[in-house]
Amino acid sequence: MHYFQYKNNRLYAEGIPIEEIVDQVGTPCYIYSQATLERHYKTFDQAFSRIPHLICYSQKANSNLALLALFGRLGGGADIVSGGELYRALKAGIPPERIVYSGVGKTAEEIHYALKEKILLLNIESPEELKLVNEIAGRMRRKASISIRVNPDIDPKTHPYVSTGLKKNKFGISIYQSLNEYQLARSLPNIHIAGIDFHIGSQLLDIGPFREAIQKIKKLIVQLQNMDIEIQYLDLGGGLGITYSEEEPPHPKVYAQAVLKEVGPIPYTLILEPGRVLVGNAGILVTKVLYLKKGEEKNFIIVDAGMNDLLRPSLYGSYHHIQPVVRRVRTQIRADVVGPICESGDFLGKDRTLPTPDSGEFLAVMSAGAYGFSMASNYNSRPRAAEILVHEKEFHIIRKRETYAQMTALERIPGF
Ligand SMILES: *Cc1c(COP(=O)(O)O)cnc(C)c1O
Repeated sequence: MHYFQYKNNRLYAEGIPIEEIVDQVGTPCYIYSQATLERHYKTFDQAFSRIPHLICYSQKANSNLALLALFGRLGGGADIVSGGELYRALKAGIPPERIVYSGVGKTAEEIHYALKEKILLLNIESPEELKLVNEIAGRMRRKASISIRVNPDIDPKTHPYVSTGLKKNKFGISIYQSLNEYQLARSLPNIHIAGIDFHIGSQLLDIGPFREAIQKIKKLIVQLQNMDIEIQYLDLGGGLGITYSEEEPPHPKVYAQAVLKEVGPIPYTLILEPGRVLVGNAGILVTKVLYLKKGEEKNFIIVDAGMNDLLRPSLYGSYHHIQPVVRRVRTQIRADVVGPICESGDFLGKDRTLPTPDSGEFLAVMSAGAYGFSMASNYNSRPRAAEILVHEKEFHIIRKRETYAQMTALERIPGF
């Protein structure tokens, strides 16, 4: 069951025609389907039901409070990468004991904040960070619970910008150095070793790299046991891919089966950090056609959403399917779908064949729920889009469209 579907040639989100939403809210806007979010979460959760596990939704994929609250209600936690994300997770009601904190550049203030709020785990990414956490915890008369983020040196065969578990990447501590790191952790008085963590990349379409990484990590766990270091948590990170076009990523059930088989019977809790797979196909970006510009070499469909709203095509060359919100019989046109931003890299789709649109018509950019709004900016002084959550026949504006006044509210013209 797909919740973005045509009925009588009108695209719906669950029980509401998209047109009805944009007539009230305007464009560009992101529209998410609650039924899809719930189904994705539950599918993922049930796939791991055989063993103790915690799903820490990777908030950077889409950090709207409404989505965080929804996953929190379903029993999920959060994987955060900044103080701002910690603030959001807590504000959305996610209990601190379900929050894990990754990231290579945590500041002293952020570490202090995380320890004060008693989150479950800090995922440590360097020896210097470990020492700083120890120091801050000491000052607070606390013990900091940590995992070491191990870089297993695995090629996830994905886009280079989103592969994170190779030796040359900045993330984690090399698997070869990690024993030293655990020894250091054990020697520090304010550190409690709780787990081991890795994350090899994003939009993975093959189960192989996950299995390889687990095999390497399992060897490490045995070595740790030989050193009398017992862990309680094994954090496998996120990274499971989704279908944007023709990709055929493993179903979460297949992924879970492979993981569980590789992990074997375990005395500890698994932590999973899915991002994209939960939200990516639960959201679309709706945009209005402004002009149809027929060039000598190329045609352009100029729309009111740009790279500041959805950066993925410009940043990674990613494909997002683009389709009309209302289907009519038309001659087809081949065109680039581009935004209004003053950059040639500002496009949503290249060389697309679409029914020739009239200006004022709406297009839906599909699979935009992950790394869409969360990467949006005010570039070209464009207010960020509105976000809407649909539940059956109801919809709710979960983030208002930004105003010009809000965009300049923090700026001051000095007297000199
Ligand atoms: C980005 C990230 C994730 C989520 O990745 P997805 O590909 O969206 O599932 C999980 N864990 C860490 C540490 C990350 O940086």
